[in-house]
Amino acid sequence: MSQGKIVKVSGPLVIAEGMEEANMFDVVRVGDQGLIGEIIEMRDGMASIQVYEETAGLGPGVPVVSTGAPLSVELGPGLIETMYDGIQRPLEEMRAMVGANITRGIQVSSLNRTKKWDFVATAKVGEQVEAGDIIGTVQETVLIEQRIMVPYGISGVIESIQSGNYTVEEIICVLKTAEGEKKELTLMQKWPVRKGRPYKEKLVPNMPLITGQRVIDTMFPIAKGGVAAVPGPFGSGKTVVQHALAKWADAQVVVYIGCGERGNEMTDVLMEFPELIDPKTGETLMKRTVLIANTSDMPVAAREASIYTGITIAEYFRDMGYSVALMADSTSRWAEALREMSGRLEEMPGEEGYPAYLGSRLAQFYERAGRVISLGKQGREGTLSAIGAVSPPGGDISEPVSQATLRIVKVFWNLDSGLAYKRHFPAINWLNSYSLYIDSLNAWFMENVASDFPALRQEVMKLLQEEAELNEIVQLVGVDALSPSDRIKLEACKSIREDYLHQNAFHEIDTYASMDKQYMLLNLIMGYYKQSMEGLQQGADFNSLIYLPVREEIGRFKYVEEEKCSEAFKMIMLKLSESIHNLISEGAEQDD
Ligand code: ADP
Ligand code: MG
Repeated sequence: MSQGKIVKVSGPLVIAEGMEEANMFDVVRVGDQGLIGEIIEMRDGMASIQVYEETAGLGPGVPVVSTGAPLSVELGPGLIETMYDGIQRPLEEMRAMVGANITRGIQVSSLNRTKKWDFVATAKVGEQVEAGDIIGTVQETVLIEQRIMVPYGISGVIESIQSGNYTVEEIICVLKTAEGEKKELTLMQKWPVRKGRPYKEKLVPNMPLITGQRVIDTMFPIAKGGVAAVPGPFGSGKTVVQHALAKWADAQVVVYIGCGERGNEMTDVLMEFPELIDPKTGETLMKRTVLIANTSDMPVAAREASIYTGITIAEYFRDMGYSVALMADSTSRWAEALREMSGRLEEMPGEEGYPAYLGSRLAQFYERAGRVISLGKQGREGTLSAIGAVSPPGGDISEPVSQATLRIVKVFWNLDSGLAYKRHFPAINWLNSYSLYIDSLNAWFMENVASDFPALRQEVMKLLQEEAELNEIVQLVGVDALSPSDRIKLEACKSIREDYLHQNAFHEIDTYASMDKQYMLLNLIMGYYKQSMEGLQQGADFNSLIYLPVREEIGRFKYVEEEKCSEAFKMIMLKLSESIHNLISEGAEQDD
C-alpha cells in the first residue's frame, strides 16, 4: 500500500504527492472519509486522481491511500434488477443506509453479502476445467440463470464441488492447478472495468436484434452484437428510443446506463419497467435488466466510469452465452466528463476542448460489443450489442463527439428535429439514416420473415427517395402538375410515413410490432400502391383511388393486436383488391 498527501484539489481532480509505489489506474481512498478515486495520471510520484465523490472540504495535506487494485466490478448473482451508480454502488442499499442524500465515503458492497443463492453444481469432482468453463448455475431471476464460470487465468482439476445455498463469498468449488496449487472459487468474480473481458473468437454478426420498432427493424436494423448511435437534438426522442429498445429488444439481458441525463428519466425506467410485462415470457422486464444511473446531479467523474462499469457487466452475461443489449444515454454527457477531467489535467485540448484521445476512447468502448465465442472448453456464442445516444449541442452532428462516433458505429439512426417538431415519432430520418448490417442480415430476414422481405424494403426505400424528389417539384409547380401515377406514389409514401414509420411508443399495442406484423403492414401498404398503379392503367378513377375507404383500415392496422393480425390482414387485402377491381369496372362502364 502506498500512502501520499494531497497537494492540490481542482473540482473532482486531486493531485497527491508521495505516491511512488502506486500504479496508474489504482483505486485510492482519499481522506478520513475514504472517498473513492482512481489514478488517471502518474508523474514522478505525483498522482492525478479523479475522485468519484464530492471533493468539497478536501485540501492539501489530506492523506491518500492506494488500494493497489484497479477499478473493478463484482460479477455474480445479484446484478439483475439492481440499480447501481457509475462505480457499481447499489443505490437502493445506500439510500437505505443513509437516506436520500447520499453521504460521502460510504462503504457498501456491489453484490449483497448476506443473501444465499441456490447453486446447482454441474461440473464433477475430478473434471479438468479451464477459464470460462461453467461449473454450475444459480437461478437469479425467473428469466436469468447465472452460469457460474471459472474465472480468467485459472484452470485445474476439481477437488471438491457441492450444490447448496451459498453467499457470493462462500467457497463453492476447489481446484487443484497443474502446479499443485489450490484455488478456491466463489459465486462472485471481479473484473477491472477498463479492460475488455477476453473471449476466444469474434464472429461476424448475422442475426438482427429485433426491437419491435418498424423503422429500425425494417429499414435500419442493428445486428445482435452490433453497434448503433442515435444522435439528435434535445427533445427529438433519443431517450424514448433507448427506453423502447430496453423494453422490447429481443435480448436476454439488458444493461441500461443513464449517463449524465436528468434524474427523472431513470425514475421513469424504475417506475415503468417493473410493470411492463414481456410478451414472450410473461415476466416483468426488470427481471432481465441491470441499471446504471449516473444522472446529471451526481459527481461527474463517476459518469466517466459508468460506461465501463456497464459494459463490463454486459460482457459478463455475454460470456455466459446470452444475447445482451446495452444502452448508454448519453455518450455526449460521458464525453463532457472526459473533457472536464482533461481540462483539469491541463492536457493539450483538441477540437472544441475535447481531449485528442476522445475518438480512441469511444472506439475502445464500442469495440467491446460484438458476437463472440467465449472462453472455455465448450465455448458459447454470446452477443453484446451497444447503442449509444449522442446529444450534439443544437443538433449539429458536425461536432467532435458525433463525428468520432459515426466513424465507429455501423448503424446511424439520425433523429431529426423537423420530424420531432411535426410529431413524427420515432423522428428517425429515413433519407440519411443507415445500417451497414443490411447485407449480412438479409439471409436471416429471408429465412425468418419472408423471402421477398429485402426486396420489399428496397422498394420502400426507393419510393421514399422518389418522394423527396417529387416534393421538390411540388414546391415549385404545385401538386396538380404531377401525373396521376406520381400522385399515387406520393399517397403511398404518405402511407409509408404515417402508417408504417410513425410508431407511438406510448400506445399499448403500437409500442411493439413483431416482424410478422411488420411484414403484413408493409404488404398492405405496398399492395395498395401496386394495385392502385395497376388500376390507374386499367381506367380506375384517380380520385377514388386516393380516397379509397380501405386505406383507413390499412392506417389502423398497427393498432390491431398481434393475435388478430393475420385475420385482419386477409380481410383488408381482400377488401383492397375487391374495391380496386370495382373501380376498374366502374371506369370501364363510364367509358362505354
Ligand atoms: P431526447 O432524449 O432526445 O431529449 P425524449 O426521448 O425525451 O427526447 O423525447 C421527447 C418527447 O418526444 C417525449 O417526451 C415524447 O413526448 C416525444 N416522443 C419521442 N419519441 C416518441 C415516440 N416514439 N412516440 C411518441 N412520442 C415520442
Ligand atoms: Mg433524453
